[in-house]
Amino acid sequence: MPLQRQPGARTGSPAPNPARDSCAGLGIPSDYGKCRGLKLQIEATKLTSIGPNPDGRDIQLAPEASAAWARMRNAANGNGMKLVAISGFRSIDRQSEIIRAKLASGQAIEEILRTVAAPGYSEHHTGRAIDIGIPGEEALTEGFADTPEFRWLDVNAGGFGFKLSYPCGNPHGISYEPWHWCFHAKV
Ligand SMILES: [Zn+2]
Repeated sequence: MPLQRQPGARTGSPAPNPARDSCAGLGIPSDYGKCRGLKLQIEATKLTSIGPNPDGRDIQLAPEASAAWARMRNAANGNGMKLVAISGFRSIDRQSEIIRAKLASGQAIEEILRTVAAPGYSEHHTGRAIDIGIPGEEALTEGFADTPEFRWLDVNAGGFGFKLSYPCGNPHGISYEPWHWCFHAKV
């Protein structure tokens, strides 16, 4: 009787793991995800452009998140709320670059990880997270929480499949991010 290989048996060298390798290279502890209660996020493979942000950089989202964002922004506009996309998809490599630049400017890794997720753990990798601002206003500040636009999102974003990921006092050790919304609806 021929020998059968156990299903799931692994052979050869371990599969490449960009998130693990990037974290190790930046001095991020290997138990980071576990300690923070953060999941590894899958990098999006299908992306669609939603146009430039106020700085002129092209923003991309996963197609279903892009469609939901368009619906939500139009509905907000209909209620007199002008919303603008500041940031969308970000690769694991880009996340590493951001952290490397902060390290180079002298910030400690613990400090950096309060405002930036470790490579592999950012919802922006999935193409479903979007940072939202108001045209002409300073973006990505806690002050966004005091605007009518945020209050509109707070009441209505759920209806479009978006959820605030990092509320005040979130258990992930990440600062309050009233601007960061992630699309969770099934497609
Ligand atoms: Zn964000």
